[in-house]
Amino acid sequence: MEWKINKGSKGCILCNKEFCEEEEYYSALFDENNIFIRKDYCTSCWCKDKGDELFSFWKTRLPKKNKPVQKFVNNEVFLDMFVRLAGKNEPSQRNLRYVLALYLIRKKIFKLKSFTRENEEELITLYYPRENKEFSVFNPHLKEEEIEAITSEMSQLLNYPYLEQEALINTD
Ligand SMILES: [Zn+2]
Repeated sequence: MEWKINKGSKGCILCNKEFCEEEEYYSALFDENNIFIRKDYCTSCWCKDKGDELFSFWKTRLPKKNKPVQKFVNNEVFLDMFVRLAGKNEPSQRNLRYVLALYLIRKKIFKLKSFTRENEEELITLYYPRENKEFSVFNPHLKEEEIEAITSEMSQLLNYPYLEQEALINTD
């Protein structure tokens, strides 16, 4: 899966209205032929038809000028992406799902439960206490550099500068 940000989109993708300070708007990820594309919408355009490729979205807010960028992608967005990537078989999608799992473990949203082998592959079972659910994720045995690369693409795409890259490494 590749990533693409609509560069220079400081405003709504549909009406081109620029977002003002502290304005709330929607950011959405679209899965278009296995490329993630990020688009931003003002609240009035958000109600319009966005097509079938909508993968995940979140509400955000433009920070005040001269204020540090806020953590506006919360863990729900990562959890949502993780859940939606279940059963996807593209290697890049599986890699992304694994990196998301590491992040959610680090954030104590998931607990590591067990490791099993299935058809030569390592399957990690995660426990999600809030909903008393379990999830499985394949371990793609990524190298540190690969985890770093996916993390930095992810944070760029989501405009989320606070992902602790070092924290994602050496978790297993
Ligand atoms: Zn608009």
